[in-house]
Amino acid sequence: MKEQLHTIPVNEGFEAEDECPFCAMERDVEHRTIRYVVGPSATYMEPHVRAATGRVGFCGHHLKSLYDYGNHLGAAMILQTHMTSLLDELKQKAEKMEIPEKKGLFRKNIPTQDTPYWEILAARKHSCYICEDIEYNMSRHYHTFFVRIKDKEFRDKVEGCKGFCMRHFARLLQEAENYLPDSQRHWFYTTAYRLMCENMERVKGDLDWLIAKYDYRNAGAPWGNSQDALPRSMQKLQGIYPGDPPYKEK
Ligand SMILES: [Zn+2]
Ligand SMILES: [Zn+2]
Repeated sequence: MKEQLHTIPVNEGFEAEDECPFCAMERDVEHRTIRYVVGPSATYMEPHVRAATGRVGFCGHHLKSLYDYGNHLGAAMILQTHMTSLLDELKQKAEKMEIPEKKGLFRKNIPTQDTPYWEILAARKHSCYICEDIEYNMSRHYHTFFVRIKDKEFRDKVEGCKGFCMRHFARLLQEAENYLPDSQRHWFYTTAYRLMCENMERVKGDLDWLIAKYDYRNAGAPWGNSQDALPRSMQKLQGIYPGDPPYKEK
């Protein structure tokens, strides 16, 4: 199958020799999006980007990413638009605000038509321009994955990978229900579960040896692959890279 623009990130993910190819893809997308928002192309100066980030905002994790990246003027300008719209909304709410009745056992709950403001604010905790972009790109990558597995060369690549993290394995099984071609049904499920079992076993073995190395009797024994077993175990569990330094502008 000919390499096309949208298949490149998926291939690169499987060539990354990472504990999870989808983690590798996701990290790439995340870095690209952070760079897009506050990076050298200065898209934060463009009204449509400011309008979009202003509307959606950022989750706590990605606010920290914007801070860490290092372009503090760009990040400040992005937040300025976001805070302006929040402040407008807040003032409107404050103007219309009625003191809520105390909830009581014998008091009738009067149904209100409006969603309580706290509910709107609570939902915003997860509203994030960068998360949305990651989700958009990752859903395309899953789709591409299930198109590519019709190709033997790609299937070989998958068989040689180090399995997946639990988070992306769950998503892969979910997406299989939508995209898995019938011809690869048997191959996909047997391969995916085999990869997961073998590689969880391997990483757990590394973690076991890391713990055993703390025993003075093993002090002289070689580390093997155990030195970074802790961050790799954490990645297998939740698809994170705890050992990564913050992503910064160059
Ligand atoms: Zn992963
Ligand atoms: Zn986010």
